[in-house]
Amino acid sequence: MRRFLIAGNWKMNCGPYDAAELLEGLKEKKAEVDENVDVLVCPPFVSIGMAVNYLHDTDIQVGAQNLHFEENGAYTGEVSGSMIAESGCNYVIIGHSERRQYFGETDTTVNKRSHKALEHKLAPIICVGESLDQRKSGEHYDLVKNQVTAALFDISKEDILDVVIAYEPIWAIGTGETASPEQAQEMHEHIRKVIGGLYSEDTADRINILYGGSMKPANAKELLSQPDVDGGLIGGASLDAESFSEIITIAE
Ligand code: PEP
Repeated sequence: MRRFLIAGNWKMNCGPYDAAELLEGLKEKKAEVDENVDVLVCPPFVSIGMAVNYLHDTDIQVGAQNLHFEENGAYTGEVSGSMIAESGCNYVIIGHSERRQYFGETDTTVNKRSHKALEHKLAPIICVGESLDQRKSGEHYDLVKNQVTAALFDISKEDILDVVIAYEPIWAIGTGETASPEQAQEMHEHIRKVIGGLYSEDTADRINILYGGSMKPANAKELLSQPDVDGGLIGGASLDAESFSEIITIAE
């Protein structure tokens, strides 16, 4: 009953010109998206307009990589949920480990941003995941449970159905190192149980949990065939139209 979501996180790559080229390639490879798979690209803010324009006659959706939790005002350099929604996005990535690591993102701000996203009918893709040290010391399950619980604080039982969780072990992001299918499945199952405890088992069964961390055509099949892996949040491989299209085809 859950549909796969294959989401590309372009990070700080592709201004409008490069975005157009990448999207052109993607459209050529993938004119029509299978109805069982949702496909999403998340360009930097400045390329969102270009992406929305390019993709308006396709089923590929557009999302942002962050949003501010205030509505508007004196927050130089920030972009609000209403602006992102007005630009044609319907998803937004929240709490990516790079934002937690370099930009002071905390569980509290992740929760505030998630509320703001939902207020503007943007589905938040909430990123959680442990570092290598945290995994080695065996605290990864508790850490991820705490991240998920804090991120979902006060989110209603109606709104939770629009939330997507992305499990992204930090040690696997951009490193070429991937969680094994078993490691991914174990953590996804754990996350689903945490959501089941906070809401209900039925709700947990309906939530999309994506895996992120060096997903590429060579490992996508095994990862996506795990029962609790409902898609991928893909960084590096989403910058190559051929690789991203291949992953979409694998999900189909
Ligand atoms: C990401 O940044 O969300 C990610 C998973 O990156 P990569 O696929 O490059 O590891």
